[in-house]
Amino acid sequence: MAQHTVTLIPGDGIGPEISEAMRAVVAASGADIAWEQAEAGLPAIEQYGTPLPASTIEAVRKNKVAIKGPVTTPVGTGFRSVNVALRKELKLYANVRPARTLPGLPNRFTDVDMVIVRENTEDLYVGIECEQGSPAAAHLARVIEQEGLGTIASDAGISVKPISVSASRDIVRYAFDYAVSQGRSKVTAVHKANIMKHSDGLFLRVAREVAREYEGRVAFEDRIVDAFCMNMVTNPSQFDIVVLPNLYGDIVSDLAAGLVGGLGIAPGANIGREEAVFEAVHGSAPDIAGQGKANPTALILSAAMMLDYLGEMDAAAAIREAIEAVFSEGRTLTADIRAMSQGGAVASTKEFTAAVVEKLQTRR
Ligand code: NAD
Repeated sequence: MAQHTVTLIPGDGIGPEISEAMRAVVAASGADIAWEQAEAGLPAIEQYGTPLPASTIEAVRKNKVAIKGPVTTPVGTGFRSVNVALRKELKLYANVRPARTLPGLPNRFTDVDMVIVRENTEDLYVGIECEQGSPAAAHLARVIEQEGLGTIASDAGISVKPISVSASRDIVRYAFDYAVSQGRSKVTAVHKANIMKHSDGLFLRVAREVAREYEGRVAFEDRIVDAFCMNMVTNPSQFDIVVLPNLYGDIVSDLAAGLVGGLGIAPGANIGREEAVFEAVHGSAPDIAGQGKANPTALILSAAMMLDYLGEMDAAAAIREAIEAVFSEGRTLTADIRAMSQGGAVASTKEFTAAVVEKLQTRR
């Protein structure tokens, strides 16, 4: 088995606790990983005076693959979000979030197994906005009226929603390639093309073009986002890979996480052309940080995605099986999962991790 060097960014809050758990599980899977630690978030502010030091970005660039714990975004300090900055710096254009039911959880649905692929670089998230009453808002409103495109109220703030052919093509192609590499059969593109013809309509047109290249290998369908949300809460198991522009992707990936058991078990990845950064969907959970209560499952499943990416499919599958075994036994579960079920003894982060490690060790 090849050795891989991976940048580990523990982050802050519950980040260090769940990173330690993740490392123990990856070690027990047999994957040969050399970890190089880099800082982001509160420890980086203390050490370097910035939440995202250049040395951390360089470390990810060097190793190409990183796994990251959550990072607190300090409010009102002028520091920008580490996550947004990292995505921008490394052009991590695809945000990938699998949502899969785990055994033993009291879910309404038992057979959800979908992957949300969210465009990560444009849409309303580019942050181009004109403040209400500003000269820019007035100018834009004037131009729009002069061009005969419509009227904007003089007291309106304006957010700009760019959706490009190139970024749409990249994300849809990523979704189809991911489907092929993971042996999945269908891609659903989600949009509001009936209303926003030049942004969502463009996204849909490009999606249809790309889908033609995969005809016969991966099926394609599209859904309007509002109908899609209703389908998600009535029959989510019909979906396989779902590809969306940035805003819908943000909302729908939380909806999907909620359907299968919440933040404690939702993994994710940010993929670029050169680098990939794997991280749980959840944040730094300051309310439980340092108490040994955090559920490390989301970061451990993010590590399994990372191992797939590194070509270590067997180790990744072993980790998923071990997690599923611990969940279906139902004896060793952290507080967030216990709160969803009928109750029972609450396991600490360390106890849960030990149970997963034991499953991996007995298998080898
Ligand atoms: P959060 O996800 O940190 O917490 C929401 C709730 O879920 C809390 O009650 C928390 O205890 C619980 N929770 C989250 N993860 C858990 C886990 N693994 N095990 C058990 N319980 C868990 O969201 P928040 O409170 O809105 O954000 C806290 C901070 O994290 C903010 O500064 C926010 O900006 C940041 N954040 C960072 C990331 C990231 O680094 N990727 C993502 C989201 C939020």
